[in-house]
Amino acid sequence: MSTVFPEVLRLAAMDHFTLRRTHAIDTIILHATGGRDSLNWLRLTSSPPVSCHILVTKGGQRYRLVSDSSEAWHAGRGLLQVSDGPRVNINRRSLGIEMENMNDGRDPYPEEQLETTAHQIAAWSLEYPGVRLYRHTDVDRSKSDPRGLDYAAFVRRVYRHVCGMLGK
Ligand SMILES: [Zn+2]
Repeated sequence: MSTVFPEVLRLAAMDHFTLRRTHAIDTIILHATGGRDSLNWLRLTSSPPVSCHILVTKGGQRYRLVSDSSEAWHAGRGLLQVSDGPRVNINRRSLGIEMENMNDGRDPYPEEQLETTAHQIAAWSLEYPGVRLYRHTDVDRSKSDPRGLDYAAFVRRVYRHVCGMLGK
């Protein structure tokens, strides 16, 4: 298993997220940014403003933009149909993680980026038991991200990290 970079705090501007969360966390949404300069875009320049909790660069650096206890704005139009009813606002109950990637189906997801992202999701899954992982495209059909990601292989990678964290 390769090195996972420490988290670097680069908080988003206050008009890019909701300070207090109103629902318990039960969902993680995996994204690709669809562009370059993703750190500035998510923290400052996106209009209308968007954000996420964690951004992972192509080199595997992990940036913390929004605290878990706040709502990031990353899946505002998403809908998730599950057994206990529709969830009309995923942002309220989810954590958002973005991988910097052009989302054109050709831009690769480097090993360092996949490792850091899987490590973060594994850590969240232990911190918030029962949390479920979805891709953005799974909850919003107008979105295609994270395009080009081998999702089955990625999920196996997350499980490997969970097992590593549990010492199994
Ligand atoms: Zn997305």
